[in-house]
Amino acid sequence: MSIRSHERLVIENDLHRALDQQEFQLFYQPRVDPRTGTIQCSEALLRWKHPKLGMIPPDKFIPIAEESGLIVPLGAWVLHEACRQNKAWQDAGYAPMRVAVNVSAKQFGRGLTDSVAQALKESGLAPDWLEIEITESVLTDNENTVIASLRKLKSMGVHLAIDDFGTGYSNLAFLMKFEVDTLKIDRSFIQNIHRNIEHQLITTSVISLAHNLGMRVVTEGVETIEEHQFLLKYEPNEAQGYYYARPASALAYEKDNLNKQAHIG
Ligand code: C2E
Ligand code: MG
Ligand code: MG
Ligand code: MG
Repeated sequence: MSIRSHERLVIENDLHRALDQQEFQLFYQPRVDPRTGTIQCSEALLRWKHPKLGMIPPDKFIPIAEESGLIVPLGAWVLHEACRQNKAWQDAGYAPMRVAVNVSAKQFGRGLTDSVAQALKESGLAPDWLEIEITESVLTDNENTVIASLRKLKSMGVHLAIDDFGTGYSNLAFLMKFEVDTLKIDRSFIQNIHRNIEHQLITTSVISLAHNLGMRVVTEGVETIEEHQFLLKYEPNEAQGYYYARPASALAYEKDNLNKQAHIG
């Protein structure tokens, strides 16, 4: 058996117990105002600290969690933990910012809106400080359930973002119907943007259309100063990427990112 399929078997077997064993952890990466560096939002990114395999990135286990249905309780835990942490940061006096939580298509129609409501209630976080990130593929999946859930989330006062925009098939008019607040332009368009005219045309067009439609724009995956400086003239509302900060544990995030911002209270 190859190492890769062996690893997959181990992951499948161990995933079931991992939630009970408290092996999951949230890392945080800031979405900043690129002009000032001020943190606008903290994106929660799931990590699995496997006792033998070490830190496993989400791309390796989320598809397996989706297949087995574990994504439902796991996704509920992520919502809970992200809301709790954001409220704790607010209570500690850090300048309030949103927390963004990624959710998978498989969570729709399986208690997502209830999980969100419960996470907000139990943490005491106001809904305005939570943003749900979904990919375009969610919107084209079983449409009616998704529309109903997104409407419910909006009516609760939660923000919605489209992640990895440009890699799927949705169009902007379609997004208007869902009352999306934020578009996150996929990293593939941002990479080397200062040298790629096609990516420049796409990015500037998407930003101006999104702004005309009243949406905020985040440029994802900014890695270099050249990309950062080039993007400034397009005036995205927020930018995210290794150039500003890498994802870090809550403790490291607080120390290295939040402490650099002005404290209030
Ligand atoms: P995403 O939501 O699009 O998150 C961005 C990914 O790109 C993260 O990978 C982040 O670490 C990485 N990234 C950020 N800045 C840069 C950069 O400048 N350059 C490069 N090369 N990469 C950058 P990560 O943490 O491995 O997450 C991968 C994906 O897993 C996420 O993509 C998201 O779709 C999914 N995911 C993460 N956490 C959760 C979760 O709690 N639930 C669900 N359903 N999915 C999650
Ligand atoms: Mg995301
Ligand atoms: Mg993304
Ligand atoms: Mg992604």
